[in-house]
Amino acid sequence: MKALIKAHGREGLWLQTAPVPDIGPDDVLIRINKTGICGTDIHIWNWDDWAKKTVPVPLITGHEFAGEIVELGRNVEGLNLGQRCSGEGHLIGKQSRQSRAGKFHLDPETRGIGVNEQGAFAEYLRLPSFNVVPLPDEISDDIGAILDPLGNAVHTALSFDLVGEDVLITGAGPIGIMAAAVARHAGARNVVITDINQDRLDLAAKVADVTPVNVTKTDLADVQARLKIMQGFDVGLEMSGNQVALDQMVEAMVMGGRIALLGIPPGKSPVDWSRIVFKAITLKGIYGREIFETWYKMIAMLQNGLDVSGIITHRFAVKDYAEGFAAMKSGKVVLDWRTT
Ligand SMILES: [Zn+2]
Repeated sequence: MKALIKAHGREGLWLQTAPVPDIGPDDVLIRINKTGICGTDIHIWNWDDWAKKTVPVPLITGHEFAGEIVELGRNVEGLNLGQRCSGEGHLIGKQSRQSRAGKFHLDPETRGIGVNEQGAFAEYLRLPSFNVVPLPDEISDDIGAILDPLGNAVHTALSFDLVGEDVLITGAGPIGIMAAAVARHAGARNVVITDINQDRLDLAAKVADVTPVNVTKTDLADVQARLKIMQGFDVGLEMSGNQVALDQMVEAMVMGGRIALLGIPPGKSPVDWSRIVFKAITLKGIYGREIFETWYKMIAMLQNGLDVSGIITHRFAVKDYAEGFAAMKSGKVVLDWRTT
């Protein structure tokens, strides 16, 4: 089969041939239709320090996918051949306290497809049947291929009650923009999204009903005044990993505000903890998706009018993957594995 492989310990990915995976008794084989390119894949392409430490070579990359089941292991129940699906790319153990308590997303033994294990940038993917998420007919393969990052957005946004709240999102990458759409769908009053990149903010305004703010040009306090946000934002969703953005967020929060953190700072970053303490702010780190409650919620919201389709800015056949990776600067890219 064709697969996008980290074949060498240097910059790039290579479209090569690999054997179709053998499946075990509890696995399914999925024929991949569409995959999403993730920021994680860019790190692996660039072969930065994180990637060097984390990713074995050679490895089939990719973890955002939609496809259909073409083979079932002998123990697999409740799934069918031909069933359209996406799936959770975090492979978990079943022995930890967290897993045995049903908090699968907190399992410390988690391994990621396309990062630690063979991934989804291929014509076929082996996946434990436990990880399969069937797709209803009304969810397209394009959307199915971005449920992983939408799940990050949903997990972050739904960490706190948003009904009637004023929400500040720092970082207008694809996940920040999708989180904005989710926050509106979930009943937030105002959703403000900040960035320093005008193209991203323009995309945010197209995809979601939000107030985009370019913090290099506009003072966030003026925007708050215009929106009649009297005492500060109730909920913050930090999506940038940028220390300046986090500082601005803490400053703009109400007393007793709540902040969910998904953005990853590049290293240690100085934080004015006294502001956080005196403002009585709650901080929550977010990792992955709640397995499988986030998947349930996001599919239900997509069935109930949540529309994030505008976030997909580019589509390429897999042979043009290099163009796809280059286009990641300006939006979200989906690769098609069925056209040649
Ligand atoms: Zn991803």
